[in-house]
Amino acid sequence: MAGEPQADCLFCKIVAGDVPATVVRESETTVAFRDINPQAPTHVLVIPRAHYPDAASLAAAAPEVAADVLREAGAVAADDKVEAGGYRIVFNTGSGAGQTVFHAHAHVLGGRGLNWPPG
Ligand code: IMP
Repeated sequence: MAGEPQADCLFCKIVAGDVPATVVRESETTVAFRDINPQAPTHVLVIPRAHYPDAASLAAAAPEVAADVLREAGAVAADDKVEAGGYRIVFNTGSGAGQTVFHAHAHVLGGRGLNWPPG
């Protein structure tokens, strides 16, 4: 069921503390941690504590939590002092777009030049 922890979900395990992560921020509804394979000096994932498979399903089922994820993404950029140089918030959605973990997450990327369009 949407929102319920999934036994086979890596990010649900990080929320539960069963898989270690470098957590940089926590809120009542979200957790932010550094990506294990960073693509930029700042590369942090912001996830809802509850399980939704992607950003669209999160926004449809719990729009207030989707807003929390975006607010926390901005706070990560402020904490890491990458706001001034510009940063990117990315939600890969679907395997064709590169989504590999099917628990909604925002990538916060910054600290280097970011090209457009992305690869
Ligand atoms: P996606 O490809 O958009 O689904 O993003 C998943 C991200 O999770 C990738 O950037 C991975 O490097 C990252 N990732 C996978 N396993 C871990 C982990 O255990 N800790 C932190 N990040 C992870």
